Amino acid sequence: MTVSKIIQSILAIKNTKDAVIAILGLDSVSTITDLIEYQSASKSRLTVKIFCAIDEHIEQLFASQACRDLLQTRPETQLVAIEGCQRVKLNQGALIIDFHLGHYEQQLRQIPVSSTHLIAHWICAAAINLHSIEETLFWQMAKHSNDSCDCLISDKLPVDIQQELYKLSQLVGFNGLNSSNTDNVPLMERQALRAQQLSQQAPYPIHAVNSADEIAVIGGGIACASLVLSLAERKQKTAVFCEDSDLAQAASGNRQGAIYPLLTPDNNTLSQYFQQAYLFSLHRLTSLSNQNHAIDFDLCGVLHTGHDERSRKRVLKIVNGHHWCVNIAHAVTAQQSSGLAGIDIDETGIFYPLGGWVAPQDLCRASLEQASRLSDVSIHLNTQITALEKSDAGWFLVSNKQRLGPYKTVVVANGKSLTRFEQTKHLQVTGFRGQVSHAPTRAKLSKLSTVLCANGYMTPMNDALHCLGASYIKDAANLDYSPQEQVDNLHKIQQSYLNKDWNRDIDISKHSARVGVRMVTRDHAPMMGPVPDLEAIMALYDKHQLTPESRKFWQSNAAPVHNGLYLLGGLGSRGLSSGLLAAEALAAQICGEVMPISTDFIALLNPNRMWMRKLLKGKSVESGSE
Ligand SMILES: Cc1cc2nc3c(=O)[nH]c(=O)nc-3n(C[C@H](O)[C@H](O)[C@H](O)COP(=O)(O)OP(=O)(O)OC[C@H]3O[C@@H](n4cnc5c(N)ncnc54)[C@H](O)[C@@H]3O)c2cc1C
Repeated sequence: MTVSKIIQSILAIKNTKDAVIAILGLDSVSTITDLIEYQSASKSRLTVKIFCAIDEHIEQLFASQACRDLLQTRPETQLVAIEGCQRVKLNQGALIIDFHLGHYEQQLRQIPVSSTHLIAHWICAAAINLHSIEETLFWQMAKHSNDSCDCLISDKLPVDIQQELYKLSQLVGFNGLNSSNTDNVPLMERQALRAQQLSQQAPYPIHAVNSADEIAVIGGGIACASLVLSLAERKQKTAVFCEDSDLAQAASGNRQGAIYPLLTPDNNTLSQYFQQAYLFSLHRLTSLSNQNHAIDFDLCGVLHTGHDERSRKRVLKIVNGHHWCVNIAHAVTAQQSSGLAGIDIDETGIFYPLGGWVAPQDLCRASLEQASRLSDVSIHLNTQITALEKSDAGWFLVSNKQRLGPYKTVVVANGKSLTRFEQTKHLQVTGFRGQVSHAPTRAKLSKLSTVLCANGYMTPMNDALHCLGASYIKDAANLDYSPQEQVDNLHKIQQSYLNKDWNRDIDISKHSARVGVRMVTRDHAPMMGPVPDLEAIMALYDKHQLTPESRKFWQSNAAPVHNGLYLLGGLGSRGLSSGLLAAEALAAQICGEVMPISTDFIALLNPNRMWMRKLLKGKSVESGSE
């Protein structure tokens, strides 16, 4: 049987409500198109994890005409051959396909264990990477599988390979594990592997709520809107509390924001996260647009050049530091950069071909509108939350002497006020004021056809205006318009592209600008996860500190958190690229589903990381400092 036929039979016969199916190998693009069709017909929510080695087969498949045809009808199915998990959500979020690219076993080791959302069926496709078939791989597969999981093997594989796969699947207890038999060795081994990984996850805990009750979200910007959409796709009801008179009036209210990944020369964990997150943002954006939501955006690429000797060296270091997939980033010559920009640039640099700009306000509105189509979303504007109070029944939100709630689950996604609550006040995140200037387009400027990024950025026109900026001022006293920052924004662009006639056309004299605050973490990663209970951490720290035993304690005990209280923020200057995947991961976490991010990314984003990194090394921790 082909993979498509196997999936069809699984969906037709079994109770597949919220099922997770995993496939080793991707035979052809038709597997994806068939999945879209079968899931739509079956009406059950479905998660499919497809594991593919990055090899010639997958590169050709992604570049194939069939893939391009699929992209034409479903632009949100853009796939890029980079290592890690790329999540694609189709059929209004009812079909999730996670493409895990890279070495199968390494990918499986990086997937966080969920105790409730386990794989129900494995399929070995004809395109399975034969070099990866090992007993250790099958144990990793079993670790993520439920007790009655089966393993189906494509009959397009040579008979001896089919037999080998069958033997391995029997060995780890697929196809007929009897969970009532407590002496069942494969079952015990599987549980031991799961317990081992759960204990490794302890410092950066994952907490599910698994309740159908309404979830309260404090916010109104891109963090809140993306989270509400991801929750609505899981049929969760949400209540949004926003202090402004409309949504997306704070940092997410700019006319245009650039979308491009933050890359480092060594492609460290942050750089890897950004690539996955950026691809997910592009996916969300094209998917919402495809569903007829009005969003101003243009994926016209982003051109990143240096503006002085140091930054030119940095750009070169990034380009040459890693073998980037061309769809993520590639080097451009001075001549090419002018061609791409449509105006004279004459600088070598990096081009991010899939990036571009979006109107963040439109993206917020579209996300919330889409969420309202899928589930109940109530929006409470002009409602400033001033405190959070815990009771036995859940969390109360205090607003203007009213106590709203109780809510079992509350998410703090309130941008610049992230640290205003007693429970969040110690988080290490700092506000940086930024002013974006607006300049009317002129004949030469109107030719700009890609986002420019050097010492500051400038966007192609939208509604006859270009955006340029942005200033970057720590802990600013106010958010008033600043004539000085307006001029600084102009000078930054002019100094980035010296002696170009087009930059004399930039006119900022109308004082048109917008001021906002980005919340920046020291490591530039967003914060996503349960709110750490710092008081409880410090109480444990009194007993467990600065010794090899204390390291072991923190490595194997769940770090304390405020149950039912989560946060999503610290999105910094690239929230449009980094925030949407973090929101999707948080929604999956709250609902007890497998998150679309690796355990390394969970540690990277966890709000407790500044303390845990030190505790895990047996170092001293000062409350409130890094
Ligand atoms: C000048 C500037 C330029 C930028 N350019 C880019 C760019 O080009 N590309 C990019 O990716 N990113 C850019 N960013 C960053 C990006 O805008 C942010 O990362 C993102 O908008 C943050 O979204 P958020 O939802 O966390 O916060 P916000 O958008 O600030 O939303 C916070 C929400 O919380 C609400 N709120 C706050 N406190 C309370 C409370 N106590 N009770 C109730 N509601 C509350 C507010 O009303 C608001 O709606 C820029 C930011 C700035 C400031």
